[in-house]
Amino acid sequence: MANAKRPGEFELIRRYFAPLAAGTPAALGLGDDAAILSPRAGQDLVVTADALVAGIHFLPDDPPDQIARKMLRVNLSDLAAKGATPLGYLMTCAFDGRVDEPWLASFCAGLAADQTAFGIGLLGGDTVATPGPLTLSVTAMGEVPAGRALRRNAAQTGDLVFVSGTLGDSALGLKRLRGKLAALSAEEGIFLIDRYRLPQPRLKLGRALMEAGLAKAALDISDGLLADLGHIGEQSNLAAKIESARLPLSPAAARALQDDPVLIAEIAAGGDDYELLFTAPSSAQAPIAALGQRLDLRLTPIGRMIESAGSHPGAVRLLDEKGREIALERRGWQHF
Ligand code: ADP
Ligand code: MG
Repeated sequence: MANAKRPGEFELIRRYFAPLAAGTPAALGLGDDAAILSPRAGQDLVVTADALVAGIHFLPDDPPDQIARKMLRVNLSDLAAKGATPLGYLMTCAFDGRVDEPWLASFCAGLAADQTAFGIGLLGGDTVATPGPLTLSVTAMGEVPAGRALRRNAAQTGDLVFVSGTLGDSALGLKRLRGKLAALSAEEGIFLIDRYRLPQPRLKLGRALMEAGLAKAALDISDGLLADLGHIGEQSNLAAKIESARLPLSPAAARALQDDPVLIAEIAAGGDDYELLFTAPSSAQAPIAALGQRLDLRLTPIGRMIESAGSHPGAVRLLDEKGREIALERRGWQHF
């Protein structure tokens, strides 16, 4: 599809994307049909894809550099959940008519910044035009010592459930972007919006949990705490209970919740947190606390894995201070 505001397909790839592949010899300068990688001996390749659609995963007017960084980071977060070290990524772009040269320049600057931050390079991809909304997809690759990748299916009865960082910031940031949560200060609003736009993939944590063998099951929270803990439960054939009072909150989220207790739904089920959720036996509590100190990252025990008898595998109960269940209408994000 011709577009006067941007160069043709091959010129676009040469000018904007090839520089992002300059540091990855496997990409062959984006001048060939495919990238060629040599997996290292003793390592498993970990591969994951995530698509982002304008109007669903980001707002069409979001800054392009932040769209690019979020796209990379949600994929890196999946690698973190496996304990993997990122190697590189493929990127498929379906550009709508609004994508012009300034948009491309900002988008690629965002990619370049995070390539440097996370030590990865572009390996290849595809570029097409779409009559629909701008759609982007990344396939990220990483490596992990053979057989050592963290999995969702290894939780055991009695395991503590831990979460990294703080919960709910991103979902509350999106609310703030949409003009809600007006009682929060400008700084609190900016903090939450930044957490929505720029997730922090917990790569160091994932790698350390894998290396030390501290975690039983792990995943990254993208759909929401309750839904994602449900995924660990289903895969491990267990249920779980969570104490709402233990959920780690940023000062901004804590204030929002104090003003409006129904926001517990955003915090427990809002999604887009990109924190790691993992289970570990009680005996691992001290080494996990030490790891949190070393990484300067909050690692909070929030509940336990329990037998699913009496409920169903994947059932997750959110309890208040008195042990009563907090019923939520929506447990997490589902596309359809
Ligand atoms: P083909 O038609 O053989 O599938 P393309 O013309 O689509 O190849 O792509 C040419 C080269 O440019 C390939 O190396 C491909 O990986 C790279 N490429 C195309 N689009 C992108 C993109 N969005 N990001 C990274 N590399 C891309
Ligand atoms: Mg080809």
